[in-house]
Amino acid sequence: MTKTESTAWHQDIAHVVHPYSNLDAHSTLGPTVIARGDGCYVYDEHGKRYIEGMSGLWCASLGFSEKRLVDAATRQLNTLPYYHLFSHRSHPPGIALAQALTAVAPEGLNHVLFSSSGSEANDAAVKLIWYYNNLLGRPQKKKIISRLHGYHGVTVASGSLTGLAHVHRDFDLPLPRVLHTDCPSHYHFGLPGESEPAFTQRITDNLEQLILEEGPETVAAFIAEPVSGAGGVIVPPAGYFERVQAILKKYDILFIVDEVITGFGRTGRMFGCETYGLQPDMMTVAKGLSGAYQPISGLLLTDAIHDTLRAGSRKHGAFAHGLTYAAHPVAAAVALETLHIYRDRDIVGHVREVAPYFLEKLDALAEHPLVGQVRGVGLIAAVEITADKAARKPFEPTAGMGAWIQNRTMEYGVIVRTIAHCVALCPPLISERQHIDELFGGLSRALDDALVHVRANK
Ligand code: PMP
Repeated sequence: MTKTESTAWHQDIAHVVHPYSNLDAHSTLGPTVIARGDGCYVYDEHGKRYIEGMSGLWCASLGFSEKRLVDAATRQLNTLPYYHLFSHRSHPPGIALAQALTAVAPEGLNHVLFSSSGSEANDAAVKLIWYYNNLLGRPQKKKIISRLHGYHGVTVASGSLTGLAHVHRDFDLPLPRVLHTDCPSHYHFGLPGESEPAFTQRITDNLEQLILEEGPETVAAFIAEPVSGAGGVIVPPAGYFERVQAILKKYDILFIVDEVITGFGRTGRMFGCETYGLQPDMMTVAKGLSGAYQPISGLLLTDAIHDTLRAGSRKHGAFAHGLTYAAHPVAAAVALETLHIYRDRDIVGHVREVAPYFLEKLDALAEHPLVGQVRGVGLIAAVEITADKAARKPFEPTAGMGAWIQNRTMEYGVIVRTIAHCVALCPPLISERQHIDELFGGLSRALDDALVHVRANK
């Protein structure tokens, strides 16, 4: 048996269906089995150490060994391992979390509906928007606009919102009444010679045009991540959201902000809403809400929307929506402790302190012959890989450059994620300079090797 072919390795191939993995190639490639974590590091089953430059899936913001979260889970497991919120029941961690979360949330978001994942939170947003407009007596106002390359999940409704062709293809998505508008990436979608302000004007004009063509009386909501993550880390151009919000107001369209990645300090403010001046009617959170130690998410609502839901109950009786594990007490207790850690250790302040160093290291990669663009804010960034810098041309998918760079980076003990044509970086919020050095050290070496590889294969 070779080092990579442990019993676990064989059992994985035999039985595990892997999300976002090539299921055919997996039968020969097999898994990298990650066995334990410590601070900003994880270790595979053979004991090799990696710096986790992606916080897992943009989520383990406090790293992989936060004792306070373990203790919070243990205390709750010993007190009340499960209860629910159906039929007017409640439990202390659920109540305390709702209080703490709405206290730090942007102004006006005073109510929260819990679920377990980002996809479920966005699914709930879609359902509540439809329900809300039915209650308001405008059943025709139902369409939801999201953006190409936006990522909002994979369930039937949230997968429809996600603006990625491979998430829709052959899954019979998107649902009708979900529309997609432009991705705000000037690098990828700017016309030749078009300035960034002109690009912003053009794509927001397109949004208004789409609303007018569909009929504003049929468009209910627009959803966006402040910084798109899984669609390729798209940092919005200056003035983009200002213009979008003015258009939404003009046509009485609700704004759903998906803070699943950007929430809780990632962009250097508590929420991306603060970084970009957003005033949402609904906001979804997950991932960093519990530092990923437990699966929990939330959909936050304004008083106005909540009042309408209450009116619905006056008409229909019980609000007919709810999940068994919504506000699961162990998850809620861990999330509450996570919010306390963010406060006690001023994690947002820490992000603001280390982000300039992180972004400086990022900028230094811009000169590399294989790098077309670098972009980032706070502790989230992307390095765009290009075959031709001047023409902004990506490598052909068949060249497998993304996987090549990702694998080589792993050989150097660094975990990053390649998405489309970029390398995404999203290290734990507790990262110090030394972790940032290790992250960029491994990545730069891998890029240098990639250049040698590309030149050798020309
Ligand atoms: N929204 C955003 C912005 C996300 O990044 C993700 C997951 N990457 C989701 C929603 C979906 O979350 P989940 O995978 O927990 O369903």
